[in-house]
Amino acid sequence: MLFREVAEYYEKLEGLSSRLDMIALLGEMLKKAGKEEIKPLIYMTQGVLAPPFESLEFGIAEKTLEDALAMASGHERAEIERMYRETGDLGLVSESIMQKSKLRRMSAKEQEFLDIYGSMVKIASSSGSGSKDSKIRMLSGIMGSLSPVEAKYLARYPLGQLRLGLGDSTIIEALSIVASGDRSEKAAVERAYNICSDLGYVGEIVAKEGIEGIRRMRVTLFKPIRPALAERLPTASDILERMGGKCAVEQKYDGFRCQVHKDGRKVKLYSRNLEETTAMLPDIVAAVVAHVKADKAIFEGEALAFNETTSEFMPFQETIQRKRKHGVGGMAETLPLKLFAFDLMFLDGKDMLAEPYEKRRSSLESAISKNDTITLSSRIITSSPKELDSFFESSIENGLEGIVAKDLSAPYVAGARKFSWIKMKRSYRGKIEDTIDVVIIGYYLGKGSRASFEFGGLLCATYNKEDDVFESVSRLGTGFTEKQMKQLSELLSKHVSKSKPKNVRSQVEPDYWVYPEFVVTVQADEITKSPMHMCGRHKEKDGTEVGYALRFPRLVGEDAVRSDKSPGDATTSKEIAEMYSEQKRVSLKG
Ligand code: AMP
Repeated sequence: MLFREVAEYYEKLEGLSSRLDMIALLGEMLKKAGKEEIKPLIYMTQGVLAPPFESLEFGIAEKTLEDALAMASGHERAEIERMYRETGDLGLVSESIMQKSKLRRMSAKEQEFLDIYGSMVKIASSSGSGSKDSKIRMLSGIMGSLSPVEAKYLARYPLGQLRLGLGDSTIIEALSIVASGDRSEKAAVERAYNICSDLGYVGEIVAKEGIEGIRRMRVTLFKPIRPALAERLPTASDILERMGGKCAVEQKYDGFRCQVHKDGRKVKLYSRNLEETTAMLPDIVAAVVAHVKADKAIFEGEALAFNETTSEFMPFQETIQRKRKHGVGGMAETLPLKLFAFDLMFLDGKDMLAEPYEKRRSSLESAISKNDTITLSSRIITSSPKELDSFFESSIENGLEGIVAKDLSAPYVAGARKFSWIKMKRSYRGKIEDTIDVVIIGYYLGKGSRASFEFGGLLCATYNKEDDVFESVSRLGTGFTEKQMKQLSELLSKHVSKSKPKNVRSQVEPDYWVYPEFVVTVQADEITKSPMHMCGRHKEKDGTEVGYALRFPRLVGEDAVRSDKSPGDATTSKEIAEMYSEQKRVSLKG
């Protein structure tokens, strides 16, 4: 496949607004790709070089791209910067500059997509002194041989912003079309993705082995499983009712999730967002080698620092800060990490996902010998709301976050938020205090004391996974420090979209629209119905249309933008609707 063909498909995709049309066109493009091309083509469409756990990052900043573009086109650097400030899109800048460039080699032969991808991998892999210059030279070499449309997408690629307006769920549906001609195999493709976290690999299996290959896929060592997520309910009796009268209740540790893969002495660890964290946690790696009896295993737990002297758990923020401060080795000595293991997904060659929780838990217990670093999460099995409540209270007293209740007979539900796990945190009772992750879709200019920041607040959205779009849920104007305001206005001004991005639903108009690329975490007092917002939009009995909105939202966290979350990880519109009905039920109960 030629890179020109890929760029032309991208251009058409960018212009489409109907999701069904996008799925069909994406399916057509993926069908056209050769068996060896589909994997990198999916990565490029996702705006990445490889799945997250392979840690292959571009390492190309905007400035590097600007330099490369100047070199390839003979244009002044200042002119490029000016155009970038105006458009907020280095892709458009590259397109228009290459159109005018006299240096562009019109006679150059067309480039294969695989060659372009291979060059990008090579550029990303170069490191060390002088690598910045060589990156600029290599990029400019590619740029100089591209047509303007190709240059547009090539420039957007290293910034992870192809701006096609589609996410993983649209790619999954397109793969179903490749596999079966229609969208009927969506669930099978999604399952395959959930057990390997590598959409490019799933595409390759579709191309080489068809839908049967997808169905044959099993959990594999060193391909992390997309984590199961917990639903939420506010009271012990709600939880027991939902679980059929009896369930396990585990302490909820506020650390960081850790998925462990072990094959003999080879161990790798993965974070919740599926990045490899092995090098950061040497004490846990050593404990896995020494104390996990099974030769091959995949299990997961929550890692957090534990102060032996005071018997206190350190909350997540503190654990991370200390790790930054003391470095990896120092941290292991000064503040040992503990891993509270809570689930088992693979054991000595056997995929355990379909086994009931009780079976997985008992196999996990027998797979780990007694030691100080890895212990099992502490838990009870109960059918009494009173007992559940007192276990919850004692967890809180011990400085933990709350509890996670688990359905005794449920399988491990990879990559989904289901009621087989239900969390209850201290603050649920009464009003919502669990944080909500929203996506920035616009911002307002500052007025009054904020005028000097050119930043007055955000317009935020939740994610509608079914339609792969972002739906407005709230304005956000409080909780920012001056530093955060400056950072946000600098960042967002570079991601402005001239009109409302096509994968955004909002009637509320911000001063500037922003491509839905950044996640922030907020805390709100309540969810209310709103005639203005599009989150969970539906018709009421009396025929009026309403959505949901957040009441008194404020920004939380030190870093304004969550670097560990992508827009597809944001709280979904469906979750907000569920939280609204829970909140209503609890307040009615008094
Ligand atoms: P939340 O991030 O609030 O949705 O809560 C779910 C997270 O709690 C999981 O992703 C885990 O990282 C963490 N967690 C802590 N303890 C447990 C436990 N015993 N079982 C499952 N998840 C736990």
